[in-house]
Amino acid sequence: MECEVCGKPIVNKRPDSKYCSATCINKAKRMRAKKIELDELDGIEIDSPEILQIASNASTELRTIKREHFETISNLRTEYRDKISDLKELNLQQEFPIQ
Ligand SMILES: [Zn+2]
Repeated sequence: MECEVCGKPIVNKRPDSKYCSATCINKAKRMRAKKIELDELDGIEIDSPEILQIASNASTELRTIKREHFETISNLRTEYRDKISDLKELNLQQEFPIQ
C-alpha cells in the first residue's frame, strides 16, 4: 500500500490507510479543498449572460466616472484660469498703477 500523496509505502497503519502520515493527510485535505475551488471556477462560463452584464455595467460605470472627472477637471481649469488672470491683472495694476 502506497501513500496517495507522496507515494511512499504506508507502514504500521491500518490496511485501509491512504496516507503515510499526518502531514500527508493534511496535504490531501488542502488539495481536495483547492480542487473544489478550481472545479467551481471551471463552472463559470466567461460569456455567460451574468458576466456579460457585469462587464457592461462596469464599462458604463467607468464611462460615467471619466465623464464626471472630465467635468471636474474642466471646472477646475476654468476656475484657476479666472484666478490667474485676476492675479495677473492685480500685479499689472500694482506695477503700473493707473494715475
Ligand atoms: Zn505520504
